[in-house]
Amino acid sequence: MNYKVDVCVVGAGPGGALLAYLLAKKNVSVLLLEQHAAVGKAFRGEHLNEEGEAILKEHGLFEKIEQLGLLRMEN
Ligand SMILES: Cc1cc2nc3c(=O)[nH]c(=O)nc-3n(C[C@H](O)[C@H](O)[C@H](O)COP(=O)(O)OP(=O)(O)OC[C@H]3O[C@@H](n4cnc5c(N)ncnc54)[C@H](O)[C@@H]3O)c2cc1C
Repeated sequence: MNYKVDVCVVGAGPGGALLAYLLAKKNVSVLLLEQHAAVGKAFRGEHLNEEGEAILKEHGLFEKIEQLGLLRMEN
């Protein structure tokens, strides 16, 4: 398979996925590669910290993730 893109991001963890999303939003053609077929919740943690929440809010992603079932930490 041949892909012609401006940027290839290897790894769809939080860092790679957000980078690919932000580049795509800027109309940069991106190929995001991930070695695993599924992203297991068990691996990526149980708690979204304040900084993570702020980054997701900054990019308009927090509400979408909340809809998928986020348990808010109140204190
Ligand atoms: C057990 C555990 C629990 C954690 N709990 C929390 C938590 O509760 N809250 C929290 O905020 N953080 C938690 N973390 C930390 C959090 O998972 C990391 O901070 C975060 O995943 C880092 O993101 P990243 O995108 O930099 O890297 P990663 O998440 O490591 O993503 C890298 C991705 O690249 C892929 N990859 C690597 N090499 C290749 C390749 N050659 N080809 C294709 N794909 C490749 C990997 O499969 C992976 O999906 C936890 C970490 C662990 C290990």
